[in-house]
Amino acid sequence: MFIKGEWCDAAGGKTFEVTNPATGEKIADVADGGQADAARAIDAAHAAFAGWSGMTAYDRSRILYKAWELMSARQADIARIMTQEQGKPLRAAMNEVRYGADFLLWYAEEGKRVYGETIPAPRADQRFIVLHQPVGVVAAITPWNYPASMITRKVAPALAAGCTIVLKPAEATPLCAIEIFKVLADAGVPEGVANLVTGFDPAPIGEEFVTNPLVRKITFTGSTETGKLLAKGAADQMKRVSLELGGHAPFLVLKDADPVFAAKGAVLVKYLNSGQACICPNRLFVHRSGVDAFTEEFVSRVTRMRAGNGLDDGISIGPLVNEKAIEKVERQVADATAKGAEVLCGGHRLMEDGLDRGHFFAPTVLANVTPDMLIYREETFGPVAPIIPFDDDDDILAMANDTHYGLAAYVYTQNLSAAMRTFEGLRFGIIGINDINPTGAAAPFGGMKESGLGREGGHEGLGEYLETKLGGFSV
Ligand code: NAP
Repeated sequence: MFIKGEWCDAAGGKTFEVTNPATGEKIADVADGGQADAARAIDAAHAAFAGWSGMTAYDRSRILYKAWELMSARQADIARIMTQEQGKPLRAAMNEVRYGADFLLWYAEEGKRVYGETIPAPRADQRFIVLHQPVGVVAAITPWNYPASMITRKVAPALAAGCTIVLKPAEATPLCAIEIFKVLADAGVPEGVANLVTGFDPAPIGEEFVTNPLVRKITFTGSTETGKLLAKGAADQMKRVSLELGGHAPFLVLKDADPVFAAKGAVLVKYLNSGQACICPNRLFVHRSGVDAFTEEFVSRVTRMRAGNGLDDGISIGPLVNEKAIEKVERQVADATAKGAEVLCGGHRLMEDGLDRGHFFAPTVLANVTPDMLIYREETFGPVAPIIPFDDDDDILAMANDTHYGLAAYVYTQNLSAAMRTFEGLRFGIIGINDINPTGAAAPFGGMKESGLGREGGHEGLGEYLETKLGGFSV
């Protein structure tokens, strides 16, 4: 762990194992921190707050810029560690490290643009001035699926805003977090400004985050279930919360779209990170006129994918994170087939060629999926694609919006008005229009409905770490 500028063990001296999900092998022992460690880290962050928030934005910017340089220089090493602890193919890991580093660079710049405002006041002898100030100590919790970028997406804007931070990464992927904190330390982030608490049991650390009055903001990325728990806890002290939660993205292929082009995009984004991304499509709605061409192209691409250890060449499908993830996917496939879905390819766990040592599931395509099936409602978080034909473009918005999630959605069409109508009508925070990667450090990322609160990335992402203060001056 990294607390008050020093690498340290957990207070109780315990450790836990990190394993490679592709091979089952242990790759490291990591400090198993708990509530006392979290409290110590919060104290350190609190003590550092006055100094860090009192520095100029220019000085903070220089440190973040240095962190970007270091993370970029170390990208190959960090990517390798990511593939070993998380499983994604090395090329995807490199992409993620670059995406993660982008937040450091972008917020190094944006931190210099925390402008205030003067507002015409209602009285002639009055002046209104608005300031934006850092919220204070931030407690951050991140998931395992994007173990580097989900950290920098929080740490970079928090530090740029002048906040100090305590981070708890996912138990499956603490090694990437450790690498990022080495980057921050080497870049010159002062003692106590950024603290890392690793732990096997998240509950006591989360409890300290929500109950410790020194923490003024909770920022969380993970499941909707845990997000609700933290938001309820944070409400007691009215802490600020930002929540990046689960999704159930619809992927719409409208009547006039090119179904083959759409299938190419759909495969890339569906099987991203073996289906373990919050923006992965969970329902592929294809107009009936194009469904055969779409399905043929889709299945042909999927059957050419190779699953295996992400460190090996030519691998496009890594393992799922653990046995629970395999069980969830198996349950959804069994439920769908029992209710009439057809398995076009995959549909089972992969056990050959040593894959039984890891958590591999064959990339799967299901046809004849209907609204009564679990997969139609529940986030899959695995490599299973349900194809659902539809007959009328006019019905599709209601079908796509029929979910309590609202994170990402995709629409393929060659008709400009259909694109605009769908863009405006979808109740999702991120919409790709003939585009499967509508993300970037400069762009606001986040969900509507039960997919979360607030945005990360862009100037909105900085605003999440700032309070607005109005000054009314009598002159
Ligand atoms: P999760 O179980 O909610 O875990 C996420 C983080 O919360 C982990 O660090 C976890 O620690 C921690 N956690 C779990 N229970 C906690 C508690 N009681 N108190 C405090 N912390 C607790 O989610 P996940 O399954 O790892 O992640 C996948 C989910 O994240 C999916 O639903 C996905 O859609 C969502 N996600 C959303 C975004 C987005 O930007 N919207 C991005 C990526 C992922 P442990 O690891 O130790 O359990």
